[in-house]
Amino acid sequence: MSLSEFQLIDKFFAHCSVERSDVLLGIGDDAALFKAPAGATLVAAVDTLVEGVHFPNNTSAADIGYRALAVNLSDFAAMGAEPAWATLALTLPRADDEWLREFSAGFCGAARQYNVQLVGGDTTKGSLTVTVQLTGYVPDGYALRRDAAKPGDLIYVTGTLGDAGLALALLEDQCKVTRQQQEYVLSRFYRPQPRVQHGIALRNLANAAIDISDGLLADLNHVLTASQVGATLIVDHVPLSTALQSVLQTVGGWRLPLTAGDDYELCFTVPQEKKAEVEHLLGRYPGSMTCVGTVENEMGLRCQFSSGQQFETSESGYDHFR
Ligand code: ADP
Ligand code: MG
Repeated sequence: MSLSEFQLIDKFFAHCSVERSDVLLGIGDDAALFKAPAGATLVAAVDTLVEGVHFPNNTSAADIGYRALAVNLSDFAAMGAEPAWATLALTLPRADDEWLREFSAGFCGAARQYNVQLVGGDTTKGSLTVTVQLTGYVPDGYALRRDAAKPGDLIYVTGTLGDAGLALALLEDQCKVTRQQQEYVLSRFYRPQPRVQHGIALRNLANAAIDISDGLLADLNHVLTASQVGATLIVDHVPLSTALQSVLQTVGGWRLPLTAGDDYELCFTVPQEKKAEVEHLLGRYPGSMTCVGTVENEMGLRCQFSSGQQFETSESGYDHFR
């Protein structure tokens, strides 16, 4: 590694996040050393963002940095896990000081917000690609999984769905909203707020959970398949932002909030008898939660309106190889 690469790491990454007491050795050696509390199971997730695939080519460096960590944090939220230590593999076309300063501000802002320490990484030259690996822990036996939904469970989602999809429609000039709404919707895409607190609070309460990265239908289907159950989804109970409500028909109707990805909200299932406790507990955190359906014995996902009218869809979510 050349001197300039060492300088780059020292300047932008060595001291940018938080210093956790469970890190014995951070950036600077051949590998990092950190320690999970006794009685905890380690949790790991990794996500890669490729320019032009996972974010538009003109995305600001700060947003790329923020989002690269946020998408991993969302996976942790879905496991009910506590995020703690991150590594960052950065492939850059050139070492641009200004770009790195902004990227580091975005990444490290998210790291500080969620108490994650950047403990190492790798820096290489090539097409812009950002890979973040996040490690953390959950008390033994308390991880939220996809395969534990039970017939009778209520299906909940956090926040509102379809905002990130609407952001892409706005960027492509497919529709118009007010200036204030536009700002809000774009921030939903560029600055998702992973529901880590919700996930941790749900450890004792939810049977199954997943984060909505590929669209509600696709992600809920993952839960149903893994759990060997089915469900009925009440389409018009799916929560929408006022911005999306105002242009829903222009952007394809309910298809968008059901199949657009990138919202990074949680979808989880809760036994009926825990409904009141869940709604009380999660009511304390920012972002609402809404019951959108019920888990059933019969396999498959049935979508209908609250009027009883069927909603026909063959579409699911985003698939990179389709
Ligand atoms: P090695 O050659 O042993 O893999 P490097 O020379 O690649 O180590 O990196 C030196 C140190 O800087 C290591 O501790 C590594 O984890 C850290 N590092 C490299 N790139 C980054 C980065 N983009 N962000 C954070 N730490 C990094
Ligand atoms: Mg290396």
